[in-house]
Amino acid sequence: TLIAEIVSVGTELLLGEITDTNAAFLASELKSRGVTLYHKNVVGDNLGRIVDTLRLALSRADLVIVGGGLGPTDDDLTREAIAEVAGETPTIDDEQLRHVRGLFENRGRSFPDANRKQAWLIPSAQVLPNPVGTAPGWFVRQGGKIIVALPGPPREMQPMWREQVVPRLEWPARALWSTTLHTWGLGESHIAELLGQLTTLANPSVATYARRHGVDVRVAASAQTLAIAEQLAAPTLEQVQSALSESIYGRDGEMLAANVARRLKARGESVASTELGSAALTHQLALQGFSGGTVVGSETSGPFDEQTALQLARQARTQFHADWGVASMVGDSSVVALSGPLGERSLCLDWPAERSLVAERAASSVLMLMLQ
Ligand code: ATP
Ligand code: MG
Repeated sequence: TLIAEIVSVGTELLLGEITDTNAAFLASELKSRGVTLYHKNVVGDNLGRIVDTLRLALSRADLVIVGGGLGPTDDDLTREAIAEVAGETPTIDDEQLRHVRGLFENRGRSFPDANRKQAWLIPSAQVLPNPVGTAPGWFVRQGGKIIVALPGPPREMQPMWREQVVPRLEWPARALWSTTLHTWGLGESHIAELLGQLTTLANPSVATYARRHGVDVRVAASAQTLAIAEQLAAPTLEQVQSALSESIYGRDGEMLAANVARRLKARGESVASTELGSAALTHQLALQGFSGGTVVGSETSGPFDEQTALQLARQARTQFHADWGVASMVGDSSVVALSGPLGERSLCLDWPAERSLVAERAASSVLMLMLQ
């Protein structure tokens, strides 16, 4: 594995006057190329502290990417710091000096003495040409490690990264495989508890994401090829599936109502609904092509109890001659019920939330009952 570390140089970054978007850009570039990143650093324009940060980064990474501090002024100290860390003395590179000087002369401007240091080079460094600005970058190879120095302005840094740095590096051959399981009925912390140690794995990895449609659990692995990555993830995927089996309703985008519909259609079964205080369930079923449903206005009053909900579910089933009858009553508290070929179920729901969300959750809960 290739381990990288990012060092962003600039007091204005440190003090929060500008946001370190370069580090975000680089992190996502590294991630997509299978490089491991454990640390991002921000350090002010101070030679001693930049040197310390570089040494620390080099002690734990193979590739250190430094951004900023390549300008001509006294507080641009990245070259000085890299030279010190490498134990080398910068000298003026004639070709580079002609180039930087030329940039000024082409614009009819005199060449400031301060810019001479943009022509500096150390023996271990190669120049990375800057197609946009005056500050060239450095590509330093020393003692099995690589330091890349790029200018701070994103419109200079990004093309240099793509055109100069990416082709120079040997990237690990990695493919990323992942799958997402959709769950309903358990909160994220409860899911995490059931997953236990699984969430601490690195490769394969297991991560949870709370979404409106329930908690998603993503299992991912990276390896030389997609097929190997999938094999690597398989045992972990099985463990996750068995830990959460009761709550999983779909995978990789398959939504709950679609899954229920698929199963009903495979068995040639029909479903009818009755709803009080919401139309979410009937609407979801209608989207799946099940049209039997009664929605009773929202100005209803109790009793909202499981017996009443079961009664409504049975009524819907009889009235529409359906295989399944489902009911949902949404109010200050909510109740859902079903009456189907395998028997009857009901459930009281008690989540305080905004009304439309409660209605959606009630619909999901009764659909989930149909899967179990
Ligand atoms: P220059 O030749 O322009 O001076 P430089 O390499 O010295 O380039 P800095 O002086 O550190 O770069 O930064 C110049 C400007 O680039 C900053 O004022 C800021 O607008 C932008 N910049 C620097 N670092 C970052 C960063 N990490 N993320 C986003 N923008 C940055
Ligand atoms: Mg600068």
